[in-house]
Amino acid sequence: ADSAQWQGEIWNIRKNGDIYPQWLSISRLSDEYGKVINYVGVFSDITERKSAEERILHQIYHDYLTDLPNRVLFVDRLNQAIALAMRHPENSIGVLFLDVDNFKLVNDSLGHDAGDSLLKLVAQRLKSCVRDTDTVARMGGDEFTIILAKIAHSEDAAIVAKKILDSFSQSFTLDGQEVYVSLSIGISLFPGDGVTSEILLKNADTAMYRAKSTGGMWYQLYNEELSVRADERLALVTGLHKALQRQEMVLHYQPQFDFHSGRLTGFEALLRWRHPQRGLLYPETFIHLAEETGLIIPIGNWVLETACAQAKIWCDMGFPKLLMAVNVSPRQFQHADLANQVIAALEKSNLSPDCLELEITESVIMQEIDNTIRIMESLAERGVRFSVDDFGTGYSSLGYLKKLPINVLKIDQSFVRDIASDPDDAAIVGAIIAMSDKLGIQVVVEGVENHEQLARFKEYAGIRVQGFLLGEPLAAAQMTDSIRARAEATG
Ligand code: C2E
Ligand code: MG
Ligand code: MG
Repeated sequence: ADSAQWQGEIWNIRKNGDIYPQWLSISRLSDEYGKVINYVGVFSDITERKSAEERILHQIYHDYLTDLPNRVLFVDRLNQAIALAMRHPENSIGVLFLDVDNFKLVNDSLGHDAGDSLLKLVAQRLKSCVRDTDTVARMGGDEFTIILAKIAHSEDAAIVAKKILDSFSQSFTLDGQEVYVSLSIGISLFPGDGVTSEILLKNADTAMYRAKSTGGMWYQLYNEELSVRADERLALVTGLHKALQRQEMVLHYQPQFDFHSGRLTGFEALLRWRHPQRGLLYPETFIHLAEETGLIIPIGNWVLETACAQAKIWCDMGFPKLLMAVNVSPRQFQHADLANQVIAALEKSNLSPDCLELEITESVIMQEIDNTIRIMESLAERGVRFSVDDFGTGYSSLGYLKKLPINVLKIDQSFVRDIASDPDDAAIVGAIIAMSDKLGIQVVVEGVENHEQLARFKEYAGIRVQGFLLGEPLAAAQMTDSIRARAEATG
């Protein structure tokens, strides 16, 4: 008997009302004369196979870790949103680019599993901050993106960004530990900042970097103002290339004092740029550019040499045990030669290594910890001291205090500012000082501006203080006069 077949997928309904996919093959049975004698239908339930297909499709478009849409699906949805918005010009679209500021530190200090768990928690929290119709995606690593569909004004995107940052001011709990996550958010808007998904993403990314350079936990809109700034930025970079050679860089020195005796203990060297057109520039306008362009390496080297030479001059003036604090940026640590640069600056100036105190930030500790330890130990062996700058503003893992040769913690100015009025700040400062005492680490309090703040430190023995109240940063010549005046006054 000859037989013919048809087969295909159909949908059927179970008794409970569920719709399920079936594979149906119908065979025609005919007799030897070609006369159809029967049709035989075989149904098979293919729910299993079907869901395997769906799973695979899902995997292609989603991130395995957080189950959020991945880059491919994100771009697809953004394209759809753009197509829709083209037809409804009253609506705008916001694209948010988010990057976790301190993620590498979590990974390095708590391990990759904890890092993965944290990313999942971050994903959940981001989703809870937006509407169901908005898309939250993971681009990879610690980068997330959000499409705010159908927003009426650019301010709406900023409101969402603020809401996200607010919600991230709450800690996450990871293996019973409290972890704070800091984010930087860049925002681009359709159609003002771009009409393709590619440009919108790129501009949101650019804005994110700008937000990060202000210290993180901040957002930045990409807009005309930003692109004007890009021109300005270019001009600054060009100028920065020539600044050393044209001798436009100067160091100012801010004095530090022993709290109890009032004795001058030393100085922090602070970089200034005497810009030919723009006047005196403070580090916040140009340090991040110097870091991004790599110019921080020669500039940082110049700072080291100049500060060491100045310290030697003051030592020879009859001020033998002074400490010269020099800020070292994370980028200098990545540069293989930092240890040699420091040693060379010490040798060239003939300054005793224990007069030099290098200030590092918690972000230095965040990066390549092995490399950091190696550099710090090789310098510490020679007597060079280390302090952690802006302590308390970075990530709160304290394990590194034991691992690294650290002599000093500088309590960040933000705690000092409100210490007289905010009991929390007072408690934090008290705790930092108590902990440092136990670890044999000295404390420097920076940014003391008034007597009220200063009085709050009376009960603590052995701390050093620095701030406008006690002395502003001055150029070397003025500082020399001031040292002489002090010496005469005290005999
Ligand atoms: P920092 O190391 O935390 O330096 C302290 C900053 O606080 C300095 O600002 C100082 O002038 C300021 N300051 C001191 N006392 C007070 C006070 O009582 N009130 C207030 N409101 N501010 C006070 P500056 O000089 O603008 O430096 C800013 C940052 O730039 C520094 O923060 C440091 O991170 C960086 N920096 C400065 N010089 C260098 C350098 O040579 N190399 C590198 N890599 N970074 C540098
Ligand atoms: Mg400093
Ligand atoms: Mg500081």
